[in-house]
Amino acid sequence: MTSPVATPTADMFDSPSAYAAALQQFLSTDERAKPYIGYRPHSLEDSASHLTGLQALLFDSGWSRLGWPHSAGGLGGDPRFRAAMFQTLWNMDMPIPEPFTTLEILVPVLLVFAPHLSDALLPGLLRGDDTWAQAFSEPDAGSDLASLRTKMEPDGEGFRLTGQKVWSTFGHLSKRSVLLARSGGPGHKGLTMVLVDLDQPGIEVRPIRAEDGENHFSEIFLDNAWVPADRVIGTLGQGWAIAMYMLQWERGAWGWLQQGRFHQRLQQAVELGTPNPDFAQQLGHAYALSAALRLTTKQTVERLAREEQLGPEVSVDKLLLIDAELATWDAIRAYLGPRFEADDSLQWLRHEYLFSRAAPIYGGSQEIQRTLVAQRVLGMPRD
Ligand SMILES: Cc1cc2nc3c(=O)[nH]c(=O)nc-3n(C[C@H](O)[C@H](O)[C@H](O)COP(=O)(O)OP(=O)(O)OC[C@H]3O[C@@H](n4cnc5c(N)ncnc54)[C@H](O)[C@@H]3O)c2cc1C
Repeated sequence: MTSPVATPTADMFDSPSAYAAALQQFLSTDERAKPYIGYRPHSLEDSASHLTGLQALLFDSGWSRLGWPHSAGGLGGDPRFRAAMFQTLWNMDMPIPEPFTTLEILVPVLLVFAPHLSDALLPGLLRGDDTWAQAFSEPDAGSDLASLRTKMEPDGEGFRLTGQKVWSTFGHLSKRSVLLARSGGPGHKGLTMVLVDLDQPGIEVRPIRAEDGENHFSEIFLDNAWVPADRVIGTLGQGWAIAMYMLQWERGAWGWLQQGRFHQRLQQAVELGTPNPDFAQQLGHAYALSAALRLTTKQTVERLAREEQLGPEVSVDKLLLIDAELATWDAIRAYLGPRFEADDSLQWLRHEYLFSRAAPIYGGSQEIQRTLVAQRVLGMPRD
């Protein structure tokens, strides 16, 4: 059976929840969606290749194009449509294709700071024909990102890049990467953001194996790699300001996406395990934190939909995310007990548990977020 709505558009729905209801009907009736319901990945690579089909289905049927402007290959509407799509996928026990998380971070930046690249590059990215990475961190520049050293020097109609990046999520599976490099003097004013093709001479991408045995991220080595001038995002020296703009999506929109996962996993764990009052408090605490994350990030998504510029308060979303992610997985592990450790069919759950340990680090560490909230939201003194 095919979709009840051939090509949905934003004006067909008077609210994101009406859109969510129609999407749910599509997913539960369209045969092409069936292989993805209840899908459990064997590995990251397996998930990446299998879920390309889901990403293409959502794009071709129009559902994932809502919430993005026409210049990106979208069908109009604001980010609340994307938020409703993520929630619907979780509700249906369908996985979110990993590239969607990168889209939430990179596409808004391209739309604002590099509109000249949108028409040509974004539709393929939304559909999943291309995957992009984010290459900011370096071996000696993570929290202190403004000290990064990758050099960007003018050369003809473009620039040459030399340096090393690390922890680029899915860098080895990506065709391109948004990259932050030093085009000027020291400090944040000397930084520029560019979009680089990774499959070119002068670039080597090496996967990094994480604790769960999966290649989550990569090192990227740049040796005189060339990037044309029209791949500069924003202007020379604007890289830091753009990275700060990006963070509101990375911390807010990502938080919304993840809260759906936590609610879903808590529910699944309760159904998998044997009722035991000893764990009620721990499960309830994790649920309360996930609910707090849901309420906070819902407001953030609504503010993003109103095109408000978010400030340091978005670090609160990230802090709530850390607490909810750790508490959810601690509670699930405790509740399922030995089964969690030993049951072969729960390997996917163990992978998610191990990934959750990175929550206090990715997207800006917990300590840095606390400092931002203390100083820039609460106005506490620096010492
Ligand atoms: C799962 C995952 C995915 C990631 N994906 C990407 C990606 O796609 N692209 C990318 O560019 N990077 C990515 N990163 C890297 C991430 O952004 C960095 O790990 C993070 O910014 C911290 O930097 P660092 O690892 O260099 O740690 P450091 O900055 O060396 O920090 C080490 C410890 O010291 C603490 N610390 C540092 N400075 C201070 C301070 N001033 N005050 C108090 N405490 C401090 C930190 O909180 C931390 O606990 C990813 C990381 C993870 C875990």
